[in-house]
Amino acid sequence: MAKTDKIKYLIIGNSAGGIGAAEAIRELDKAGTMAIVSDEPYPAYSRPLISEHLFEGRPLERMLYRAPDFYEQNNIQAVFGEKVAQVDFSGHSLKLESGRSLAWQKLLLATGGVPIVPRMEGGDAKDVFTFTRLDDAKAIDKFLNKHKGKTQALVIGGGLIGVSATEALVRRGVKVCIVEMKDWILNTILDEEGAALEAKALVEADVDIITGHTVAKINKSPSGAVDGAVLDDGRSIAADLVVVAIGVTPRLELADGQLKTNRGIIVDRRMATSQPDVYACGDVAEAYDFVFGENRVTPVWPNAYVGGRIVGQNMAGGKAEYQGGTAMNSLKYFGVNIVSAGMVAPPDKSYEVIIQRGDGIYKKVILKDGLITGLVFAGDIEKSGIIYNLMKDKVRVDGFKEELVSDDFGLASLPEEIWRARLAVPPSEEAFIVPPVEPPEEVVMDE
Ligand SMILES: Cc1cc2nc3c(=O)[nH]c(=O)nc-3n(C[C@H](O)[C@H](O)[C@H](O)COP(=O)(O)OP(=O)(O)OC[C@H]3O[C@@H](n4cnc5c(N)ncnc54)[C@H](O)[C@@H]3O)c2cc1C
Repeated sequence: MAKTDKIKYLIIGNSAGGIGAAEAIRELDKAGTMAIVSDEPYPAYSRPLISEHLFEGRPLERMLYRAPDFYEQNNIQAVFGEKVAQVDFSGHSLKLESGRSLAWQKLLLATGGVPIVPRMEGGDAKDVFTFTRLDDAKAIDKFLNKHKGKTQALVIGGGLIGVSATEALVRRGVKVCIVEMKDWILNTILDEEGAALEAKALVEADVDIITGHTVAKINKSPSGAVDGAVLDDGRSIAADLVVVAIGVTPRLELADGQLKTNRGIIVDRRMATSQPDVYACGDVAEAYDFVFGENRVTPVWPNAYVGGRIVGQNMAGGKAEYQGGTAMNSLKYFGVNIVSAGMVAPPDKSYEVIIQRGDGIYKKVILKDGLITGLVFAGDIEKSGIIYNLMKDKVRVDGFKEELVSDDFGLASLPEEIWRARLAVPPSEEAFIVPPVEPPEEVVMDE
């Protein structure tokens, strides 16, 4: 195939990473051919909003990440509802499951993550769901509409996705039991004390939480439906549906054996993989983490978008370097405001921890050699953005570290040379971008 027949920019994955890349490409190259392939049949939507789809029926039109005519306006061929089966990296082509082949000059893998579903007896029962895609939310919605009345759900895993699913189910009138293998819920993004505030709100909403245990078996009725479950200690749990939310792992199926991978696809600071002309970003990639000073998987929306923008610039001939991201979460489940970023627990005694506690309030900052390496704010998150930026910009805070968690902390608490510089320089684009909970007005589609 002649080089000119090849799609100039081919993107696999139509979500935060893929859209970031497409936008950055079009800022530099208005005409080069571009296609986005996705096995989901929808235009890009905000994944965190699938919970709102489930609990209040929020329609796709009000979940869209970009205007409905985004693809047309940007001259992007949208190949949706089609799965890429195989990529020939050296031959610069790929095969779709439908049998069609596409040839490309530059390729981006923004394939995200895939939910981990452990093998367990009864795991193939009819009403066992995952909760990472709009179609998952639709499937659970269909189940609830069919089984009106008293429904009980078992949510396996008390991480961000499990708690997000729980909130939606509770608001639909479902009695939920969360079973979490570790000692506390949200353990990858919160320490024990921060998580206790969230757990209290869950219990007040009549959610049962069982920690330190896992599910050994899902019982199936003769018709194949879920009929309760049994825990590893033999306890029985009543349930009519199960949501498996024990985690998400980078979706490496296209890369395996052909690209350098660790937990995710390894990329350099240009977000380039080990194969020429092939890039990766978002939840599938292991990119630079500025807190840990190494490449890590940091599966949050803003990192995927910013990483995608770096890819796009490089695909279009620019020279952009990713400054690094870190795990950063801003949540409000069951009315509790929580922000965490970087390390949530000190890895050893060489770290210092500053804590302030109040009624329903918990603020913790972790420091090493005068620099912030992590934060957990629950209840009162107002100043967490300033702390995050001090961490990101590697500002020494030794002189005022106790102030960081005080009630009246603000820019004015910082030494003059720091707050003056901060007022002069507007926060960088990637600093503390809260995920798109509400799409912009212009995204709303005509009926
Ligand atoms: C319920 C839930 C709540 C969340 N809440 C938050 C939050 O509050 N804040 C936050 O920052 N982050 C949140 N996240 C995480 C955030 O959604 C992800 O970090 C972000 O979506 C990653 O974007 P991405 O572009 O890397 O990949 P994804 O959004 O995972 O998209 C990848 C796309 O690629 C497609 N794809 C993969 N392989 C193929 C193939 N072979 N062929 C065709 N298409 C393929 C997938 O189907 C998918 O559409 C949440 C996630 C979930 C599930």
